Amino acid sequence: MFEALSDRLESTWKKLRGQDKISESNIKDAVREVRRALLEADVSLQVVKDFVSAVETNAQGAAVIAGVRPDQQFIEIVHNELVRVMGGDNAPLASAATAPTVILMAGLQGTGKTTATAKLALHLRKENRSTLLVATDVYRPAAIDQLLTLGRQIDVPVFELGTDANPVEIARQGVAKAKADGINTVIIDTAGRLQIDESMMAELAQIKETVQPHEVLLVVDAMTGQEAASLTETFHSQIGITGAILTKMDGDTRGGAALSVRQISGQPIKFIGVGEKVEALQPFYPDRMASRILG
Ligand code: GDP
Repeated sequence: MFEALSDRLESTWKKLRGQDKISESNIKDAVREVRRALLEADVSLQVVKDFVSAVETNAQGAAVIAGVRPDQQFIEIVHNELVRVMGGDNAPLASAATAPTVILMAGLQGTGKTTATAKLALHLRKENRSTLLVATDVYRPAAIDQLLTLGRQIDVPVFELGTDANPVEIARQGVAKAKADGINTVIIDTAGRLQIDESMMAELAQIKETVQPHEVLLVVDAMTGQEAASLTETFHSQIGITGAILTKMDGDTRGGAALSVRQISGQPIKFIGVGEKVEALQPFYPDRMASRILG
């Protein structure tokens, strides 16, 4: 259903052919196609604007390499810029010098936060890191049950104090328990709401202040498209994130949210969720994502 940028540039290429330099006038059409491709890939409008102007600057005056079609060269410039903006390489998860490493999960309800918490625990086990999951969403009993079920499924302990306890206190005690039990990493699942909500943000900030996490991972649904940008903006300015997990990448999306999240927060996407199963988590690679965004 998506048209690849290379196909879009087909006609532009004809105009570029026979010219020995990519110049301001001859890249106008090509740049317009990049803009369209990125918007279709769900990159936020502001991010597209910034990105496109960077590409334009990089491409202008670039000498055409003998034997390389100018449109291919142009795509290469766009691809490289995408990789650069998305951080270049895979960014690993924090590992504290003194255990436990504390990871705080943040995000809206329904994005896949609880699932990602379990996925992360399973991933860490492969690195021989033991985990404790902490259930602080006291507002929905089903949320605690969901984490308990996932914990049983992957054989990872879950710390919870029911729905009457204070979420900040649950988080604090969870970290203390991990320390006492010699567990390597604590992953704190937090309450989400359907929309940004002041009390949710205040609670997250309080948990962060109390447990001093090494990672605050924002869980973003890749299918939300443009909204991922404002979501990131709010969470990053109010809580401060250290990275993100982009979920539902198995869906019908090019994944442009990755670019928005990175550009807006300056923090790396660390993993992508590629399915409902607990095994469906992959490290994020800027290079692969650039190819997917461009098609
Ligand atoms: P939370 O409210 O943010 O904790 O979200 P959940 O973890 O309960 O997930 C919400 C729904 O999204 C569930 O039906 C999950 O199975 C589903 N889900 C989570 N991650 C993914 C993913 O990467 N791909 C797909 N297709 N579904 C996912």
